[in-house]
Amino acid sequence: LGVPVARWAVAADRAEALAAARRIGYPVVVKAISPGLVHKSEAKAIELDLASEAEVARACDALSHRFAAAGLAVSGFFVQEMAQSGHETIFGVSTDPRFGPVLMFGLGGKYVEVFRDVVFGITPLAPSEASEIVRRIRGVKLLEGVRGDAPADIALLEMVLLKLAWLVQHFPEIVELDVNPFLAAAAPAAGEPAASKAVDVRVRVQPTTT
Ligand code: ADP
Ligand code: MG
Repeated sequence: LGVPVARWAVAADRAEALAAARRIGYPVVVKAISPGLVHKSEAKAIELDLASEAEVARACDALSHRFAAAGLAVSGFFVQEMAQSGHETIFGVSTDPRFGPVLMFGLGGKYVEVFRDVVFGITPLAPSEASEIVRRIRGVKLLEGVRGDAPADIALLEMVLLKLAWLVQHFPEIVELDVNPFLAAAAPAAGEPAASKAVDVRVRVQPTTT
């Protein structure tokens, strides 16, 4: 869709995780893949900011041991580029029986639980509405840059919201979608790739019966 996403690969075991990290480039993040695992931080299923092969190997072993000790299986490792900067924001989609797909944007990561600073919208979403949603969160000043911080790429956030609105409008089998966090960084210089990117995405799909 053109939504920037941190580079990633799924690895079946430690050797594959090392190969994936080499391809992706250091530093990387390793997340355990385990049946039924949804809240990875709470389950201590994430090892952040790994700078070398030795650190990735150690992280894979630590995740495997931790899960085994809890009686759970690690079926693989999700290896991901470590994003270097950005405000944690959230994009969400849920389905309302009357309104259809409901979009949400706000401050993400742990902030969403503490501040609940989110704004909702419904599809179809006009560009002016996307712009309004992003600017209506209470924390928009954080994104605009306080105390000399560079402003986040707000035009990109609006674009992501519009793309997700388009996606769920055209694929009704997507009943729930969460991008949390989408790291909102400063706009890139001309010709550079976006520094902002999605680092955690969850989609719930329900087959449609038409
Ligand atoms: P979960 O939401 O299941 O706990 P996440 O994948 O969202 O797991 O990771 C939890 C937190 O770890 C994120 O909110 C973010 O702060 C950090 N994080 C996760 N992946 C990355 C990444 N690739 N780059 C930088 N930070 C990350
Ligand atoms: Mg998350």
